[in-house]
Amino acid sequence: MPEIQEECGVFGVCGSGEDVARIAFFGLFSLQHRGQESAGIAVSDGEKIRMHRDMGLVTQVFQEEHLQKLRGHIAVAHTRYSTTGASILRNVQPMLCDCELGPIAVAHNGDLINAAQIRSEMRNSGIEFETTSDSEVILKLLAASCECNIEDAITDVMTKIKGAYAVLIMTQNKLIGIRDPFGIRPLCIGRLNSSHYVLASETCALNTVGAHFIREVEPGEMIILTPEGMEERQAIPTQGHALCIFEYVYFARPDSRMYGKSVHETRRRMGHELAREHPAPGAHMVFPIPNTGTPAAIGFAEASRIPYGEGVIKNHYIHRTFIQPDQRMRDLGVRMKLSPLKEALSGRRVVMIDDSIVRGTTIGQQIKMIREAGAAEVHVRISSPPYKHPCFYGIDTANQNELIAAKLSVEEIRQYIGADSLGYLSLNGLVRAIGVKKDKLCCACLDGKYPVEVPKQAKLSKFVFEEPASVK
Ligand code: AMP
Repeated sequence: MPEIQEECGVFGVCGSGEDVARIAFFGLFSLQHRGQESAGIAVSDGEKIRMHRDMGLVTQVFQEEHLQKLRGHIAVAHTRYSTTGASILRNVQPMLCDCELGPIAVAHNGDLINAAQIRSEMRNSGIEFETTSDSEVILKLLAASCECNIEDAITDVMTKIKGAYAVLIMTQNKLIGIRDPFGIRPLCIGRLNSSHYVLASETCALNTVGAHFIREVEPGEMIILTPEGMEERQAIPTQGHALCIFEYVYFARPDSRMYGKSVHETRRRMGHELAREHPAPGAHMVFPIPNTGTPAAIGFAEASRIPYGEGVIKNHYIHRTFIQPDQRMRDLGVRMKLSPLKEALSGRRVVMIDDSIVRGTTIGQQIKMIREAGAAEVHVRISSPPYKHPCFYGIDTANQNELIAAKLSVEEIRQYIGADSLGYLSLNGLVRAIGVKKDKLCCACLDGKYPVEVPKQAKLSKFVFEEPASVK
């Protein structure tokens, strides 16, 4: 079975007397952008853990009757998008098991780089796996741990697993959040009222459930929530900070904050930097590919004094599982998702802003559509640098040979996508816009410096040309 890669959102709440399933549902709903393929909530009532999970969007998976049945005082929730065709129900999270420590539910965001190795070692010692998910590796390691309390068992697991993880673990009476020693994937803590807490991938989920942001979980840290309150401990040593830079570029919701920086504001500043680095003199209008291109387009328009406008309208009701993975359906998918505004485009020189070009398949179709709608010139500006290196830490971006910037120069990409001009934001410009020191960010997809060394076997699965040697 192929390994699956996961982009996910996690949410957990601990609070006696609260309708924790409903709070988890709202939290998950606001993390929907982190994964649209499946959703699940597990709830503990102090004895039993009950769970409902299925394929689909959060609102498709959960009806009132499901929430009614999920009674208890702790909940853990997960929304997931995986890349392979093997996106089957048994990979859906949270994952549950019964072990010596009692029932445990796990929800995981990120990719472990040594999951395959651990899985094969455990298989050799007779442990069976039902899924292809990294998260099951965490669950099975926990279940196999010889430690006699959950905190020590988790610490033990953290010393074994490598890579990116923001994980929520629920037992009968505890909700525990951990973050990998580099803090690659985000996780934050919020206070719901005086004694109840939540943990979430992004701060936007705290706002939705009415929780106040306390702080981010630190790299290598463990947060233990019980009905009595919160305990914090450094489970394993921090190895620095390396938050995924793509959270700022594309992944996070603009109303979230990371390292205290508003994602929307950082994207707007990316637009400022982009306008300075790659101006488009003489253009009539700047427009975004919505929604992720929107803040950068606003910023570009502000800095360049070219009027901001709408060039395409997005259909918000489409989501990616409706798009079949063949080229004809992908072409149709672009037209279902975006529709050009002829009146805004006709006869005009336009600047089109998007956050990134990954495979380079969608942008060419978009430019064609913009030209067909009558645009005289299409100048493309991208608010991140060329995406050249595959991610091993939980972002779904293909093998190296599928990454267009790994194969073609900027000029070749311009010709391939059919733009009149093409400008990418530099890495320095991007980091300046974020306003965080570069050594606190993982920029591996952009500069090939992988903070956690990737095992050879995993590298072979994604590197087709040459592998970058340098490690941060
Ligand atoms: P493409 O170049 O055709 O692979 O698509 C690039 C587009 O996908 C950009 O407009 C991004 O907004 C979006 N994108 C970037 N990263 C991801 C990702 N990890 N998963 C899904 N979409 C992404």
